[in-house]
Amino acid sequence: MRRPIISGNWKMYKDINEAIELANAVKRGVFDVENVEIVICPSFTNLSELGEMFVGSNVSVGGQNCYWEKEGAYTGEISVPMLKSVGCSYVIVGHSERRKYFGETDETVNRKIAAVLEEELVPIMCVGETLEEREAGKTLEVVKDQVVGGLRNFQETQLETLVIAYEPVWAIGTGKTATPGQAQEVHAMIRSLMAECFSPAFADAVRILYGGSVKPDNVGELMAERDIDGGLIGGASLKAEGFVDMVKTTSQLYAEKKG
Ligand code: PEP
Repeated sequence: MRRPIISGNWKMYKDINEAIELANAVKRGVFDVENVEIVICPSFTNLSELGEMFVGSNVSVGGQNCYWEKEGAYTGEISVPMLKSVGCSYVIVGHSERRKYFGETDETVNRKIAAVLEEELVPIMCVGETLEEREAGKTLEVVKDQVVGGLRNFQETQLETLVIAYEPVWAIGTGKTATPGQAQEVHAMIRSLMAECFSPAFADAVRILYGGSVKPDNVGELMAERDIDGGLIGGASLKAEGFVDMVKTTSQLYAEKKG
């Protein structure tokens, strides 16, 4: 069975004091959860502190972005070795806000994934269609192109840790969530695409998260879908109680599945 991941994307929220407070509350709330991988992706300025706070706990930290070069004259950029040095084990790559506001493309996503894998961190590759694309009936085509473009030239053996996050752009930060059926349809397509591109065993093992207005009252029905292996959660990860609640709901669901 695939181990679920619940990851909080704190985006550009929380100064260092607020981040410490929230991280402490999350750590206390989830300390006894064993069957869910819990990841917090705070802003770069909070990574070092949170990386230390979570040492020895069941919470990992991740970056929200990275640059593909290891070092150099790239003012304002952060490399993967730098992320690793402050305790990151995951990196979100290709979030739709990066694609929309910062010119990220499938090609830059591809290069960033290579850089993340080279340092043995886990890439969380985000893909998803806009509202216009969905309304034009192009969802599966768009997502397929993004997945293929992001993973171009990789061998299956390089991608063992890859995590894919399906995040319909129209559902991010809007309060509109994809129905479990809409999400499952895309997740199933991505999984069969992975079987085609790599192998059935790879497809069976790769974890595919859903993101887009996940909250405590809809996390259960989404996680119950067979091809949804966790969530990438923005707004609702900024409140400890709700985030802990979503981790626990997921944990319980998976404990029942196993039992
Ligand atoms: C996200 O930022 O990845 C996200 C899914 O945001 P939200 O949960 O706020 O829609």
